[in-house]
Amino acid sequence: MTHPVVRRPSRRVLVGGVPVGGGADVVVQSMTNTDTADVAGTVTQTYALWQAGSELVRLTVNTVEAARAVPAIRERLDALGCPVPLIGDFHFNGHRLLTEVPECAQALAKLRINPGNVGRGSKRDDQFATLIEFACKYDKPVRIGVNWGSLDQELLARMMDDNGKRATPHEPQEVMRHALIASALESAARAEELGLGRDRIILSCKLSGVQDLIRVYRDLAARCDYALHLGLTEAGMGSKGIVASTAALAVLMQEGIGDTIRVSLTPRPGESRTTEVQVAQEILQTMGLRAFTPLVTACPGCGRTTSTVFQELAQSIQNWLRGQMPIWRGQYTGVEHMNVAVMGCVVNGPGESKHANVGISLPGSNETPVAPVYEDGVKTVTLKGDKIAEEFQAIVENYVKTHYGE
Ligand code: SF4
Repeated sequence: MTHPVVRRPSRRVLVGGVPVGGGADVVVQSMTNTDTADVAGTVTQTYALWQAGSELVRLTVNTVEAARAVPAIRERLDALGCPVPLIGDFHFNGHRLLTEVPECAQALAKLRINPGNVGRGSKRDDQFATLIEFACKYDKPVRIGVNWGSLDQELLARMMDDNGKRATPHEPQEVMRHALIASALESAARAEELGLGRDRIILSCKLSGVQDLIRVYRDLAARCDYALHLGLTEAGMGSKGIVASTAALAVLMQEGIGDTIRVSLTPRPGESRTTEVQVAQEILQTMGLRAFTPLVTACPGCGRTTSTVFQELAQSIQNWLRGQMPIWRGQYTGVEHMNVAVMGCVVNGPGESKHANVGISLPGSNETPVAPVYEDGVKTVTLKGDKIAEEFQAIVENYVKTHYGE
């Protein structure tokens, strides 16, 4: 079951055929960390991100070699049957790169422009205009992506000066938040003057502090109807990055704010880039906003179950379910909504199992070594012996085959 949240009304933007905003499902996106000029490496990672569920993938376009690689990357992905829209991330020299390699703009589904990094002084407006003209010429939407780490310093200085003249000046942090929003809205207005349609513009204002991000997006959402890209920038590594992103994004999405999200995790050495996609999906699914893969409900365990059997079963079932989804997605309609419970003892085990589509309650310490299984709230079998994990997996597989439409 997904839970309706009243979404903030926003313009719908089509990004390579994927609807963003206007009441469409919140879209999951991610970004590669390969050198874009490395076509093979970038194709491999983009394909993996798409397979993991990323609906849009952003690539950095920072050199002529990277710009030239983009059409080749697009071609190879198409040949692999991977239609994921590509977004080009431009800073400092985007105007020159697109002028020299216009086919890059053609191969992209969207351009991301950072108004703070588009140029300095008198060159700024012309360079911004060049990028917008390319977007108009090739009919591509643009994300105007403001980041507090690269906020337009001239705008900030001007707003700080104005603030200093107020009878009761705001705190510098508040001026900074206002400057982020002003940068996004002024740039969007300029893009519209240059001919880019309102339904071709997505805005973002990213910060790394949770409370600041929430305040900025609430304000931004109240002041415009552009589609909004949501993300906590530089969220960090491991649980810190996951918790910080979830805290910020969940509050905003519960208020209906946000049309597309990215979880900016720093991968641990050797960790797959796809973790950020899984986290984004899990935020949306645990909030009941979308469903991607069957969820496993598991108890945390306690002194009533000292063996690791239920932990191992919960882990193996979760991995197996996620691994099945690329096949099941096309085969069994609605399977992504399935809930499986793996519980450690009789205290909450049978109760939680009854609420799941399929649930198992493993024996706790000193309990009879049997594991009752429930399907749709009814006890259907009691497993025992060494093959409980295999037998439970077979029961879940049979449930999928018999309950979800081919
Ligand atoms: S279900 Fe049992 S094992 Fe799991 S946390 Fe509750 S009491 Fe502990």
